[in-house]
Amino acid sequence: MSLPIIDETHDPARTSWVAGADGHPHFPVQNLPYGIFSDSDGRPRPGVAIGDRILDLQAVAALLPDAIVPTLSGSTLNALFALPAADRRTLRRRLSALLVDPTNRPAVAPALLPASACTLHLPMAIGDYTDFYVGIHHANNVGRQFRPDNPLLPNYKWVPIGYHGRASSIRPSGVPVVRPRGQRKPPDAEVPSYGASERLDYELELGVWIGPGNRLGETIPIGAAADHIAGFCLLNDWSARDFQAWEYQPLGPFLAKNFHTSVSPWVVTAEALAPFRTAQPPRPDGDPQPLPHLWDDADQAGGALALELEVLLQSAAMRDAGMAPVTLSRGPATNMYWTVAQIVAHHASNGCDLRPGDLLGTGTISAPTRDGFGSLLEISRGGTDPIELPSGEMRRFLADGDAVTLRATARAPGRVAIGFGECTATVLPARA
Ligand code: CA
Repeated sequence: MSLPIIDETHDPARTSWVAGADGHPHFPVQNLPYGIFSDSDGRPRPGVAIGDRILDLQAVAALLPDAIVPTLSGSTLNALFALPAADRRTLRRRLSALLVDPTNRPAVAPALLPASACTLHLPMAIGDYTDFYVGIHHANNVGRQFRPDNPLLPNYKWVPIGYHGRASSIRPSGVPVVRPRGQRKPPDAEVPSYGASERLDYELELGVWIGPGNRLGETIPIGAAADHIAGFCLLNDWSARDFQAWEYQPLGPFLAKNFHTSVSPWVVTAEALAPFRTAQPPRPDGDPQPLPHLWDDADQAGGALALELEVLLQSAAMRDAGMAPVTLSRGPATNMYWTVAQIVAHHASNGCDLRPGDLLGTGTISAPTRDGFGSLLEISRGGTDPIELPSGEMRRFLADGDAVTLRATARAPGRVAIGFGECTATVLPARA
């Protein structure tokens, strides 16, 4: 397994001449995430976040490696992420040098735009989206609500469970989510009805952006999986629990999940996260050893990520009163039963082709205790145990006007912390 390399771009002593970049909670010069932005001219194009600014990559093309420049000419990052990781690393090292060495300032500074004046778009044309279910505590919590004595089904510890999601309804952070209408049948109802969801929920997930990928009929051996993981984002898998409970058997999630999915717009690269690799937590005693095609010792030793994940909520009343969002949960991303390399290797293990810009969701990542649960379904124990907001309002599930924000920060001893930016959206009332 060739995990990303730590090099001079990660040096904690590196500082940038861009004002406000050093000490920035998300985008110091050690991060350099890619995104697609537009400014007042409305033309979406590739950029890199540095502090509170966006570096327009097309405007500095003459300063970038010749072989990479053609991949930056469009309005998505698919071509860039189709390149091998070695090319991405070359570009990262060049960008780091441009933003660190002040002699580049005259040439580069005119290509910096204030992020507050730009719009961020989806970073990729997403061909396919697959959602997994590897958050072990989430799977236990939700399984227990349906099957108190047997929360995990027998396949869970053998195979990374997933289903094919819908790419067309994925939107970047900031686009409001309209409360969906759908079919639901409460337990006490004789027949189902169609109407606005009464149990709208969020799911805290990591998104995985696929890099080069594989040809149809070929596999991605687990030892090569890291070469196909280009970067990461935050992902909110909005869920209508009432639709879900009625429709999910026997084929799994459908309209309860596909009405809207939010992602953070910046792609935090696998290279940027190299210093934040950590060991996958050992499997509990008695759990089965995965089959050989899903096991790699190097992946177990360094295939997890030292990320702290956080969910915040701000109701309309809180917003009107000037109250800050309240943290609903916080926890580490290591609460995943399978690594991202294992889910990538599994996805391609039957010859299914993964393509540049495909998106995988990890599944909801919950910590073992309520202050780390990654959905309201878990926090409110299926809607039976509401929480109180600082405004005095109670929540079992989301109300119209609620804004949900996901955050992630990567930390490691002796390293400059980097963030993912935010994945946020406000719930709008159902359409008439
Ligand atoms: Ca999910």
